[in-house]
Amino acid sequence: MPNEASKKYKLKAVPDTRFDFDHASFTESPDVCSLCFGSGMEVVSGKGARPCACRKQTAHSSQLDKVRLPKRYANCHFNNYAPLNLTQERALKRSLILTNEYPAEERGLVFMGTVGVGKTHLSVSILKGLTERGFTCLFYEFGSLLKEIQDSYNSNTRSSELGVLAPVFNADVLVLDELGSSKPTDWVLDTMAHIINTRYNDKKLTIFTTNYPDERPNEGKETLEDRIGVRLRSRLYEMCKTVTLTGDDYRRNFDKSPHIRK
Ligand code: ADP
Repeated sequence: MPNEASKKYKLKAVPDTRFDFDHASFTESPDVCSLCFGSGMEVVSGKGARPCACRKQTAHSSQLDKVRLPKRYANCHFNNYAPLNLTQERALKRSLILTNEYPAEERGLVFMGTVGVGKTHLSVSILKGLTERGFTCLFYEFGSLLKEIQDSYNSNTRSSELGVLAPVFNADVLVLDELGSSKPTDWVLDTMAHIINTRYNDKKLTIFTTNYPDERPNEGKETLEDRIGVRLRSRLYEMCKTVTLTGDDYRRNFDKSPHIRK
């Protein structure tokens, strides 16, 4: 069910793209569709035949498989993000605008905030919405991407390195989760710059999440600039709008009530 804040921002044209689609119209056996009996065409009385909804759903599911969304976020959608303060409401609104208006809206987002405020939840929801709209989307946790590149590089097969990077360069929309979480060695900084600059030059949309703030919260704490360098932070100002979320870690609620889990 849409929550109040989602309703306020009118979920126009942002369909609920849940993985676990409604099997209600299917037979007891999940393999055989009761509408088309597996033929892929549904006969509509008095009107003729049309492609069955189950095929559309299968095609959409296979598109979503390519996005590489983490299973943990399979049930994350705009309509179950419940903003707990104004910053989270603004973040939801900004996410809906991007999902509805891309590619006219061509700037990406940097979701900035402490752990558990919903940065990844919103990024995943955007990718689901844009996949539904037919764009090629890809999700990577930045540390895992660097590791995959490193592994393919170590094996000395330049082609496999490109095998990892090609989809990252080519996806219409890319989410890079947890920017700044990897120790900023020269190699990490160069690789990040290579990825981000390539996408920037190709005018591709990139969405980032980060736990590191722009303002130093207190002495000894690191900023995003400390983690990714001045030049890259500057590039991101140009490519993306920064959306800061505040609040407590939402996961704490999981302890309080078993029903709050989606
Ligand atoms: P972050 O990326 O900011 O660290 P996540 O997006 O991973 O946080 O959120 C942590 C968990 O809490 C996820 O299961 C997410 O679905 C849930 N969550 C966070 N904020 C909200 C919210 N406002 N409404 C509903 N679920 C939320």
